[in-house]
Amino acid sequence: MDYSLLVEAYQRIDSTTKRLEITDHLVDLFKKTPVELVDKVVYLTQGKLYPDYMGIELGIAEKLAVKAVAMAAGVSEPKVDRTVKELGDLGETAAKFMGKRAQATLFQEALTVEKVYDGLDRIARATGEGAQDLKIKILSGLLSNASPDEAKYLVRTVTGRLRLGVADMTILDALAIAFCGSKDLRPMLERAYNLSSDLGGVAKAVAERGVEGVKGFQVTVGKPIRPMLAERLPSAEEILAKIGGKGLAEYKYDGERLQIHKLANGEVMIFSRRLENITHHYPDVCELARKHVKADEVILEAEGVAINPDSGEMLPFQELMHRRRKYGIEEAMEQYPIALFCFDLLYADGEDYTLKPLPQRRRKLEKAIKRSERVQLSQAMVASSVEELEKFFEKAIEDGCEGVVVKSMGSDSVYQAGARGWLWIKYKRDYKSVLTDTVDLVAVGAFHGRGKRAGTYGALLMAAYDKKSDLFKTVCKVGTGFTDEDLAKLPKLFKDNVIPHRHARVESQLEADVWFVPAVVLEIVGAEITLSPIHTCAMNRIRAGSGLAIRFPRFTGRYRTDKAPEDATTVEEIVEMYLRQLKKIEAEA
Ligand code: ATP
Repeated sequence: MDYSLLVEAYQRIDSTTKRLEITDHLVDLFKKTPVELVDKVVYLTQGKLYPDYMGIELGIAEKLAVKAVAMAAGVSEPKVDRTVKELGDLGETAAKFMGKRAQATLFQEALTVEKVYDGLDRIARATGEGAQDLKIKILSGLLSNASPDEAKYLVRTVTGRLRLGVADMTILDALAIAFCGSKDLRPMLERAYNLSSDLGGVAKAVAERGVEGVKGFQVTVGKPIRPMLAERLPSAEEILAKIGGKGLAEYKYDGERLQIHKLANGEVMIFSRRLENITHHYPDVCELARKHVKADEVILEAEGVAINPDSGEMLPFQELMHRRRKYGIEEAMEQYPIALFCFDLLYADGEDYTLKPLPQRRRKLEKAIKRSERVQLSQAMVASSVEELEKFFEKAIEDGCEGVVVKSMGSDSVYQAGARGWLWIKYKRDYKSVLTDTVDLVAVGAFHGRGKRAGTYGALLMAAYDKKSDLFKTVCKVGTGFTDEDLAKLPKLFKDNVIPHRHARVESQLEADVWFVPAVVLEIVGAEITLSPIHTCAMNRIRAGSGLAIRFPRFTGRYRTDKAPEDATTVEEIVEMYLRQLKKIEAEA
């Protein structure tokens, strides 16, 4: 197939923004394409060579492409650079130079789609020593046989700048029209795509066998399923009304969505929300999946969250980004271990669960995983009243989550692969604020440490001072910010303050492992102050049944030995800080 046919279609598509016209151009193109090339044409039209999950990326640095253009055109690199500046696009530049060159040469071999695809594939796969030279050579070889228009699109493709703006759904429409006779059959093609994440694969199947070709598409362990996404509403009332008065509310963890595939041979693959294969970022998650997933073959979804290994506290999302690196994964795994919060199951031991309602998927998920500190089920509750849902939401925020996702539990609550729909509704706060002041809080209790912190404390229960009642009221648990030295000295520091029960001047709904006489004051910083159903600081002051808590608290390293417990930050001050924070948010909005 001549590459020029593809380029003509690109030009037509580039000249319109109307979806129907784009669809028509694609139908024309697909009809002209030999069956065995349909998948490649689809990938190329999207500026790709393979489905995303294969991880073979097309795209070379513009600098290399400049060298290739210079080589093919027989001009100097600075000259190419100057023209790029003038025209603003390397594609147009290549077209200009190749036009001149075409007039000067007689012996050109027509470019075919096969040759272009093969060349681009070799460029994408070239690695190691000499890879750069090889890439330049292959590209300049292709360019020397290209017409000006072909050169333009070739360069755009290879530098990752094709951007025809063709949506997946438009390609599916065009495939349905071209090979199944009608757009009405698109939903069948769409389901095949959602289950396989491979548009080229779907194209090939329908080109070969029409609609029959996609009927056989099944969930395959090792191929990502396009993720189900949530709609959003701003209040608990609206969510419950929309979802039929009752739904499964789950913590919305603030980490990375991981689609975990465990194969029968024990191999584990992990795909991101965007379907990239990110297995290599998470060797520890693979290990956890091998150990804690009981089914032999399984696809499940979890949110991976960075945690403080010693206290089990969840850390802010940014900490997880340390894991997205090429090198030093081992160290990153140690510094930023991950806990998995599993929230869905899509396939287990030969059975496709995507069309089963949520309660059934959840039951299977519960059975399929062996829970541990590092592998948990998402915190969930059946919510049927606004108050319940609000309380759960506050607790989620306080625990370091982004909010909650409320999920339909009805008989139609299937896993809608690839769709954003009302079966899942997220409830997030629409603001984030930064607490700039530090607070001085009194340690009133502690929780035993684990792992590296066995034998010392994992977290301290901290309180503010309430002048009116002369009581200490809890406001957070802090386990972050302590150095090894701090940790070693904590038990000694508190030795004389340990008592067998909660101190009479401490008001707490949490049961600490160890209680203290309120005496030691520590300086704490946090991300913000939030409503809390658990902490007793300012209970019922802002909202009935809620107190105030400090979110993502961290010890600054300063022991305020100069302060008596009654000199600690007061409940009044925390209320003021909360109100100031609200004002700031309103002003910014
Ligand atoms: P957002 O930026 O709000 O996460 P999104 O477009 O990535 O938006 P949505 O489907 O709108 O994704 O929101 C759900 C996201 O929340 C999921 O992609 C997932 O990563 C995350 N998440 C965390 N906890 C859960 C949970 N318990 N159930 C479903 N999704 C969860």
